[in-house]
Amino acid sequence: MIKNNFNNIIVKGKLVNDRTGCKHYHSSADVIAIKFKCCKDYYPCYYCHQEVADHESKKWEKNELHTKAILCGVCKSEMTIEQYLTCNYQCPFCHTQFNPNCSRHNHLYFELVSGVNLIQRI
Ligand SMILES: [Zn+2]
Ligand SMILES: [Zn+2]
Ligand SMILES: [Zn+2]
Repeated sequence: MIKNNFNNIIVKGKLVNDRTGCKHYHSSADVIAIKFKCCKDYYPCYYCHQEVADHESKKWEKNELHTKAILCGVCKSEMTIEQYLTCNYQCPFCHTQFNPNCSRHNHLYFELVSGVNLIQRI
């Protein structure tokens, strides 16, 4: 039984380890979960939400970057979207390296042209 309770934050979806890795992404760097705007639930990835939730996902808007919507599966800290997009793929709290390839999926979670553009603007 995989633990899905991270400091009282429940991560839904198809977890395969206790660092929020899921059946889609489970390398040692895949350690974050994302809160979805539509249901305010945390999932390890977009596909987990697609397979488990019964509704279309909604993206966070540019004016919501101060929302805490990212969970580090290693230290179990929540960070804001802005903190995540500007942390250079390293947890601001425990300094665990995140998967830089995750940024390729930023457009699935955030209403942005691209994560890179956003970081430059901040
Ligand atoms: Zn949802
Ligand atoms: Zn997944
Ligand atoms: Zn961390």
